[in-house]
Amino acid sequence: MGCGCGCNDNGSNESKEVKYSECPKCGSTAKSVPHDVLNSLVKKELQKQILDNDYYICLNPDCENVYIDETKESVFKLADLKKPIWFKKGSEPKIACYCNNITYDQVKKAVRELGLKDWKDIVLNYKEKAICMCEKLNPTGECCSDNFYKLVNKVLVKEGKPPVSFSSGSCCG
Ligand SMILES: [Zn+2]
Repeated sequence: MGCGCGCNDNGSNESKEVKYSECPKCGSTAKSVPHDVLNSLVKKELQKQILDNDYYICLNPDCENVYIDETKESVFKLADLKKPIWFKKGSEPKIACYCNNITYDQVKKAVRELGLKDWKDIVLNYKEKAICMCEKLNPTGECCSDNFYKLVNKVLVKEGKPPVSFSSGSCCG
């Protein structure tokens, strides 16, 4: 986790502590998320239902539950959100970068057809500027770069090209 970009040092240590809970529907592990992601992703008309509690995200791709609060009384499902959740089954389109709304298909195309490999270059191919606010805009509150570069490398390897190293990180760089 983390690429050394702004996602990890926005001045709050609050989001760093990862806690786990259990999804009341499927029993899978649910991981704590920063409260801000709910405000970004829950549909406007349902925002009043967001409680002032800690929330967790169900990590099971087959489960429609996404956000669950600590009391398990407040649950937001896929249908309650503004955007699809990339790791949930059937999510369409699959989004690789939530801050800039870049889909898996757009990443693949940029890598395959334009030879782009860098997060910023790929984003800028589609958008005027590249923003990075994963702690608010990514559904898990984590930096998207790990996931993003895994996808870039999948395409590169398929094309017979060497994968990029992203341990040093280039999201937001
Ligand atoms: Zn679940």
